Amino acid sequence: MADLLIENGTVYIPSGFVRAGVAIEGGKIVAIAKESHLPKADMTVDAEGKFVLPGIIDIHMHMREPGYTAKEDYLTGTQAAAAGGITFVCPQPNVNPAPNNVEKYLLQVELGEKKAVVDFNPVASPLLYERGQVPELAKAGTVYFKIFQKVTKYPYDTEAGTSNTAHVYKAFKAVAPTGLYCAVHPSNEDVLTETLNDLERDGRRGDYDAYWGSTYVSDELTSAAVQLNWFSEKAKCKYMAFHCWLKEYLDLVRMIKKQRKVGFLAEVEAFGAFAILRQEAKELHRPHPAFEKENQEATWKALRDGAIDVMGTDHSPTLREDVIESRRSGKPENRGGGFPMLETYVPLMLTAVNKGMLGNGTEGLQRMVSLCSERIAKELRLYPEKGAIQVGSDADITIVDIKRDETITDEKHARYTKVHWTPFVGRKVQGLPTHTIVRGTIVMEEGEILVKPGYGNFVKPIVNRQ
Ligand SMILES: [Zn+2]
Repeated sequence: MADLLIENGTVYIPSGFVRAGVAIEGGKIVAIAKESHLPKADMTVDAEGKFVLPGIIDIHMHMREPGYTAKEDYLTGTQAAAAGGITFVCPQPNVNPAPNNVEKYLLQVELGEKKAVVDFNPVASPLLYERGQVPELAKAGTVYFKIFQKVTKYPYDTEAGTSNTAHVYKAFKAVAPTGLYCAVHPSNEDVLTETLNDLERDGRRGDYDAYWGSTYVSDELTSAAVQLNWFSEKAKCKYMAFHCWLKEYLDLVRMIKKQRKVGFLAEVEAFGAFAILRQEAKELHRPHPAFEKENQEATWKALRDGAIDVMGTDHSPTLREDVIESRRSGKPENRGGGFPMLETYVPLMLTAVNKGMLGNGTEGLQRMVSLCSERIAKELRLYPEKGAIQVGSDADITIVDIKRDETITDEKHARYTKVHWTPFVGRKVQGLPTHTIVRGTIVMEEGEILVKPGYGNFVKPIVNRQ
């Protein structure tokens, strides 16, 4: 007798898609076979007409806890993740206190263990390398390290940021022996400062659209990524290039991949890949270089052909009133850069799959699984416990109905995030997650969260467990 049986679905197993049932017992997958060959179970889910995918892993999201819990916390953030079909999240370290030593890292683990409804691994900052904290944090279980090469204003003015490239280089040297990736938000602060000085001289420093249209540009990001590639390779440190949503940056990524001998991954975030339209986001909009046609085309080409390896949401919840006030007050930077994304990510990706933007037929869905789950689990050393539907793996499963049409609303697609808004209001999507299953338990069914706070587990890389 199994605990749970998923019947009649099309299941993604490591070799491709099969029509089969999945039997789950004790949180693990115990059999994948024709339904008639499977044991009976206490509970069944009928996945007729649906796809049964490895649980979606969000490699890059902002939980805002500790320090900024008016925007999000471990409960609301993981409920939003579960509602969006996500089974595992990696909260970023630009919180207060930033997890740059073991004590502060374990504070986040404790918060998550109390509140999370999906599995999680807080990402540590390696910037206290001179105090020997990097190997300690690796031992504590961080799944990778992250540096913000940026210090100006929230959300970058935390201990997880530095604009000193020599310090980033030293951090790479400290991370290298751990075998973990070091991710960097690239930013050439000289270029950024000069951009802001030019705006000031033109009398447009406080102009919201001018400010946001001229930051996060290629000169600022790509020039930094050139250096980061060089320093990380010299330090023999695996490097994850974040925010690859610009054509020139992607040209660099392709060049790096031809030459690089040390681990390298290119990451892009959903909020950059799905151009946010002014008519949808209204007063919550901001211009962004990633939304420009040339960059959108380059991003989707790279998502399709494999130049981009992994994807996250970059869920960046910001209060509606803070966004509006940042425009009104002439302090555009006060909104922070990003958008809430957890509850729209999978529907948007499935819509892209339906449109053939990731390849033809099931090839597109397979590519989505690779970008959003399988490859992440492999690179972060969580595979095959996470990121796979096979016997022995954790039963982390996202069931999707790829045919269902919906129109995005705040009520339905920003229901659980504390900020209760999405920038995609009115967008038509096709495809949505109907069930989020974490270690064999149905955490979300048709938008309803079915588990108590604290169900989520802190999960370390498999190599780091003794
Ligand atoms: Zn981010």
